[in-house]
Amino acid sequence: MSIQEEIMGIKKELPINTHLVAVSKYHPIEAIESAYSAGQRIFGESKVQELVQKHELLSKDIRWHFIGHLQTNKVKLIVPFVSLIHSVDKFKLLKEIDKQASKIDRKVPCLLQIHIAQEESKFGFTFDECRCLLKSREFQELKHIEIHGLMGMATNTRQTTLVQKEFQLLQSFFEEIKATLFKEKNYFKELSMGMSNDYLLAIKYGSTLIRIGTRIFGLREY
Ligand SMILES: *Cc1c(COP(=O)(O)O)cnc(C)c1O
Repeated sequence: MSIQEEIMGIKKELPINTHLVAVSKYHPIEAIESAYSAGQRIFGESKVQELVQKHELLSKDIRWHFIGHLQTNKVKLIVPFVSLIHSVDKFKLLKEIDKQASKIDRKVPCLLQIHIAQEESKFGFTFDECRCLLKSREFQELKHIEIHGLMGMATNTRQTTLVQKEFQLLQSFFEEIKATLFKEKNYFKELSMGMSNDYLLAIKYGSTLIRIGTRIFGLREY
């Protein structure tokens, strides 16, 4: 199937409150233009340099989401234009985003990445670290970031029951945080979970942002 057909096929299956982030990392400009011509406007990238280049070359109505591991020293390069940073996994990083955003008087939407997988390599806060951060005074002092929700990556496995359990845990944690620490803050509403292999399951557990690369663009060449 073509890129356009994949996009339209995925969108047909989405509930009204779930949006598609087309993960275009490692794919060329032309691939993004194909997706764009099918109406896709949200794209996800995981490398700062690549994101900056693509942002310069492509249409200005694209909403760029940063989904990869973000180094503090590169924050300033994306803060002027990024629509959402999914992968905030350290307080230090949040502080730097706030600092850079304050210089240009922007408020940058962020998600906190939660560690839900049974894999060492995946970044993120534990539930307790996340609660603790959100209650802290240092966090409340940040005025140029806005926490729009949570992000998580399930274990990369064919064991559906494990993936399901991880999504379910993240969903109930999201509901807890929303009801306790973000009561009356309508902007806290995004639950970013689900990739090419597990997005249908993620949707069942309340995902509002699915991040899909391979299913749309094919395999990546690293
Ligand atoms: C690469 C990546 C994706 C897309 O994964 P696919 O399996 O290609 O759909 C989603 N989320 C994150 C955080 C990624 O780094």
